[in-house]
Order: sequence, then structure tokens, then C-alpha cells
Amino acid sequence: MKLKLPWTMAVVAVVVVAGCTDPTSRSESGTSGEGGTVVDAEALAAVGNGDNWLAYGRNFSEQRYSPLAQVDDGNVSDLGVAWYVDLPHDRSLVGTPLVVDGVLYYEGSYNVLRAVDAKTGELLWEYDPQVIETAGDRLRVVWDYSRGIAFWKGAVYQATMDGRLIALDARTGAELWSQMTVDPELPLYITGVPKVFKDKVIIGNGGTEFGAIRGYVTAYDAATGEQAWRWWTVPGNPADGFENEAMRMAAETWTGEWWKVGGGGTVWNGITYDPDFDAVYLGTGNGAPWNPKIRSPEGGDNLFLCSIVALDADTGEYRWHYQTTPAEAWDYNSNMDIVLADITVEGRDVKALMHAPKNGFFYVIDRSTGQLISAEPFAKTTWASEIDLETGRPVEVPGARYEEGEVEIFPSAWGAHTWHAMSYNPGTGLAYVPTMDIGAVYSDEGIDIQTWESPDWAFEGAGLDITVAGAETSVSALKAWDPVEQRAVWEVPLPGVWNAGTLTTAGNLVFQGRADGRLFAYRAGDGSVLWSVDLGSGISAAPITYAVDGTQYVSILVGWGGGMPALGTTLPAQHGWSYRVHPRRLVTFALGGELELPPSPPPFFPEPLVSSDFVVDPALAEAGGSIFPGKCAICHGFGAVAGGAAPDLRASPVVLSHEAFVDVVLGGGRQQMGMPQFSNLSEIEAGALQHYIRAQVPDKPEE
Ligand code: CA
Repeated sequence: MKLKLPWTMAVVAVVVVAGCTDPTSRSESGTSGEGGTVVDAEALAAVGNGDNWLAYGRNFSEQRYSPLAQVDDGNVSDLGVAWYVDLPHDRSLVGTPLVVDGVLYYEGSYNVLRAVDAKTGELLWEYDPQVIETAGDRLRVVWDYSRGIAFWKGAVYQATMDGRLIALDARTGAELWSQMTVDPELPLYITGVPKVFKDKVIIGNGGTEFGAIRGYVTAYDAATGEQAWRWWTVPGNPADGFENEAMRMAAETWTGEWWKVGGGGTVWNGITYDPDFDAVYLGTGNGAPWNPKIRSPEGGDNLFLCSIVALDADTGEYRWHYQTTPAEAWDYNSNMDIVLADITVEGRDVKALMHAPKNGFFYVIDRSTGQLISAEPFAKTTWASEIDLETGRPVEVPGARYEEGEVEIFPSAWGAHTWHAMSYNPGTGLAYVPTMDIGAVYSDEGIDIQTWESPDWAFEGAGLDITVAGAETSVSALKAWDPVEQRAVWEVPLPGVWNAGTLTTAGNLVFQGRADGRLFAYRAGDGSVLWSVDLGSGISAAPITYAVDGTQYVSILVGWGGGMPALGTTLPAQHGWSYRVHPRRLVTFALGGELELPPSPPPFFPEPLVSSDFVVDPALAEAGGSIFPGKCAICHGFGAVAGGAAPDLRASPVVLSHEAFVDVVLGGGRQQMGMPQFSNLSEIEAGALQHYIRAQVPDKPEE
């Protein structure tokens, strides 16, 4: 059954599937046989019977919708733990597992890939790509997480944080091939998911904030790893010639010498293959730097930043694009998932794509043409009042580009929605979006836009000052969004921010894990809370569901992670999660499951170490304060307030000893634990960092 039906018929089809009670009686697709499921284009285009979860978004549609209905809105409160696996060596766990014929594949921290029995959790094989050894200096540009893996025919594909794309034999975990997809001299990394279609596997990368980066995606032959095609998202220096006509066209929308700052547009998430049009859709990233006055001083839309771009899947040739945020100025990248659905708008059947990027507008686009159908704000948006449907362009609020000085803007660079996956249920016709309202003050006063230079391996690629709001004023919600009516049908306020992605099922359910460590099930139609369980650690991954031998399971990785726990501040710190204190697990539920999880420690708030032995030198502390944000904050948090993904340095005894600090920071003494070596820092700079960190600690213990 392909999702090619008009909307009204799709509802009927869902009911038929939901009425089947024995999942073992039907094969996943027409290609299943004695030897098990063949994960090919046919299988990935199908809704199937729900036994398997074959791709990041379950199938090509990226809907994260399962036709399984053994667990439904009448019995979900009987869910209990069927099995779990403790993962004491893992930290950030944000990924979506896959399930093929009773085997569950998932990626832990540093891309350690494991296959387990989906009925018991028993380990079948493990593959460690030795990321720390390979990454070297690139440990500095990202923490340890990956959002997922891909499956095609007999192979599992993973992209490692240091930039490799690796194919493994799904039965044994033996490496089939490995390709380095990035120039190791550039501060590029991968947290994204390879996507496979028609014997090709495609991957992008991230790194816009760390240097002069030019975004691209590369498609490789799935069997051999040979490069099939590469598509750059922004034009290079015209003097070098253009790779294709699309780059020539894009260059018309840039001014100045943008290639010197790279341009940006990295594709770190948001790649969808569309079997109906044999197209690949890319969600592209923000500019490098964020401030358009630097990267394109005479104006211009700066294609293809912050766009959805449709490419021919066979050749990588440009077909169409829609730019969500022309001349992007706030880090409003469009890397969020691109979800395909057949909907009816004003009596017309539309093969639509849905996209809820950082900028706060929910876009519905006709995939046959790239034409914008509708766009409405799904969260607080003060940078633009509306999207003009005639021109397809946002109507910006005067001053929003910080052209008249400092201005508070919603959303912030965290976005109204980020990579936490949204799901879409063809039965309810609703998309389930984790949303955030976090403001930020933007300003480029005092920034010399004439002499600004791209950072060299440092998290300093904005070209402006941004002060993001803290926990006190930031809120979030799960919203059930009607893409036809363009409105929220129901919404649930959530604790804090950085709540996880969603799953929806034919059992009229939506599942979502929360930042506070609880996993919830809601009735998909009206948002009623039907079930919840405390999993003892912040949840950042989306759940999946699958069936083995007639039993439906719901499975989720538990392990606080992603950019916000790394970058710290009170936003993530409010939850009190620490990778050293709270458990990491893969937890799987079924109706009647009776296992008890071991108790989890309560929230942990690091106590800054008060010491009279270390006397802060204000001048050194100020010097350290200019180094810390670019080099250290990416893992240890802005203001040295950790978000739970790395040690809180205010509480670290290492910082009290110059010898110990130099050994760790300059000498790489803890590289094996993920702490990169900064051999290019001087001992004086290391000392300055010590004084900066100690300056963040109060003189007396807090009352
Ligand atoms: Ca960005």
C-alpha cells in the first residue's frame, strides 16, 4: 500500500490496516519473502503492516506514522517495560532506532552502532567506528551525538561525527566500505542521518558557525561507496566558474565577496526522498556568518540559504526551490524535517510537503511545482507578520534585522522548532510538532562589519551579538497542527524547553518524551493525556514502534543530548540532568510489560566549588572570557553553566590546579573521554580560561 491515495481514501485504508489484529499474517511489502524483508524503494515507499521501522521517519514519507494499532487509546495505560538495556558508556542519545525483521539497530554516543534482538534487547553485534581517534581536532566542533542511521537491502549506513559515511553488513556488523565525506582540514561534522534511495545514499554536514563553510550534499553508490553526485547549496567564487546553472542563478542573489566567508547553507538535517516525483528535497542551513551585512553587504536573497531545494534524485540536478527566509539574519535555518503527505486543500488533492523550520512558520508546499500553498505561524514570531502568498515572501517587521540597533526577536537562534522530529497522522490529518518560544536580543552594534573575519575552528560564526533568553521567560508546547486549516487543533504546555520528537500511530496515539524525563502518550485526536512513565533522565530522542511475533512494542533511547544540553545556560540546566549522574538506556514497552526500571537519582545541580586558594585576577578573567565562548562553551555551556552534556567547570577541581588544567586542555589528557586537545592555545591563554571559569563561581557557598 503506497501513500498515493487521495486524503479521504487514505483514512479508509488506515482503518482497514488498523482492523487487522495479527501483524505476523502480512508481509511488510511486496518484496518480503522467505529471506526476510528486502529494504528497497518499494518497501520504503509503503506504509506496510507496521512490523518494521525501516528509515529515520519510518519510510520515505518521514511521517513517523505507524499503522500498528494493538496499542491504542483504550489500552495504552497498560503499557509497561518489556525489556531495557543499560548504556553506562553512552551520553547524548538523540537517535531514532530502526527495526528490520525483529532486529533493532541503534546508534549510541560517538556513533557506536549496535544490533539487538527487538524482542529481548540481547546484543547481536556492535560496531565502533573509533570516532575519537579519527576526529582529532574535530572533537572541538561537536559533542557526541547522531540522529540516526539508514538501511538499504542488506546494509546499515551510518554517518560519523568526524565526517565518514560507513556501510555495514546488517547481519554481522562487518564494515563493507567507508568514505570520508568532508575535507578534514575544515571544521565540518555530521550529526545527521544518511538517507537511501535507488541504490544511492546521501549525506550532508554541519559547521556553519565554526568557519568559512560552503554547504553541500553528496550522494554515493550504496553498494560501493563511490561518489555519484555532489550538490553545493551556495555559489563559490565566480572566478573559479560555477558547478552548474543553479549556482550561476544563485550567484545573482549574492553581493560582495561572499565566498571569502563561505556563505554557509549546510544541510545538517532535513533530507527527504520523494518516490512520487523521484526528487530529493534538501532543507538548507543559515548563512555563514549569520549577519547578512557581512556576507552579502549590498543585499540579495542569498540563494540557496534557508530553503527547500528539490533535486533530481538520479543526477542531483536542480529542479525548484522555495526560500523560507530570504537574506537570513537570525540563524533561522530550514534544516528541519521535510514531511510528505497527500492532503486536500480547497477541494484539490495536493501532493504536499510540510515543513516547520526555525523561523516559526508552518509551510505547506505543492511538491509537483514547489509552489507555496500556505504558511502560518505555529509559534511566537516577531520578525515577520505573515508570509505573503502572492510573492511567497515573509513580510518583515521593521527593525527586525537589528538595523536600528538592538532588538528582541522571537524565535531565537534555537528556533520555534528544531530537529526534534514532528510526526503526521493521516488518520487525524494532524502534524505533531514540538515547539518552543524562546526570545533573543540581536545586535551588531560594535561589530566592525568591514573587518570581521570568519572564525578558525571556533564557535563564533554569527557576526553579531545575540543574548538568548533564559529559563524564566522561555516556554514550549506540543502542538497538533492542522496543515490544511493552518491552525493548532490542540496543544499541551511542556516543562521547560528542548522536549523531544514525536511518534503517531493508527491506535489514535501520539508519543513524546519530555525534557523532564517522562514519556507521554496522548490521544491523537484531542490531546488527552492517556499514559506517562518517568524514565529517570532527560529525553531527547523520538520513540519508534514495531511488532515481533504479534506483539507491538514502543522503544525509545533515553539520554539527554543535542545542541542545547551542550551549549548550556539556564535553559537546559533547569532540568538538573548530568551525564555522570543519570542513567542512559534503551527502553522498550509492550502491553502488560512488568519490568521495573532501577530508580534514577533526583535532579542534580552542580555545586560550584568554593575555594579560597584560587584568587581570581580580573584582567586574566576578562581575557579568558573572550576565549571561552568560541572554544569551550560548545560543550561546557555559555557562562560556564553546563547543560548536562559535559562537566560543569564551576564544579571542577581540575580548574583549581594550573598543572592539571594545562594537562587536560593543552595536553589532551582526557581526549579519550571526549575532551579535545587545544594544542594551539598558549599556557597563558589556558591560565586566562582558568581565571574566567573561577570568576563565574561565587566567593561563598550559595545559601
Ligand atoms: Ca545554525
